Amino acid sequence: MTSSSVTRDGSRWMPEYLNSINPAMCIGCGRCFKVCSREVMHAHGIDEAGDMLGVCDGEDDFNGELSRVIMVIDYPGRCIGCGACARVCPKNCQTHIAVHHRSLHES
Ligand code: SF4
Ligand code: SF4
Repeated sequence: MTSSSVTRDGSRWMPEYLNSINPAMCIGCGRCFKVCSREVMHAHGIDEAGDMLGVCDGEDDFNGELSRVIMVIDYPGRCIGCGACARVCPKNCQTHIAVHHRSLHES
């Protein structure tokens, strides 16, 4: 199901929801997190094997296991599809879709 809405002046507006972040390309810069008003994503630490270590607060090195930081979509249902995260990503590693995330599982 696609959903469209309207802007304040009544123009048609099609939300584009954040659907994925490519973990191989993301550099964990945090730009998308900073501009998102909905806390859809958070920085997570991963080890050398690529296994997730947990939410990264910037201080914890997970007992020396931390290899790098990537952004993870942990609350996809909060997204309003504003597109701000796409505009600031320096790596172009996000994809957005114009359908409700939930409808992917319903179809
Ligand atoms: S599209 Fe907007 S609400 Fe959705 S994750 Fe990106 S910045 Fe947040
Ligand atoms: S802006 Fe792009 S590169 Fe930076 S953390 Fe977000 S998804 Fe990763």
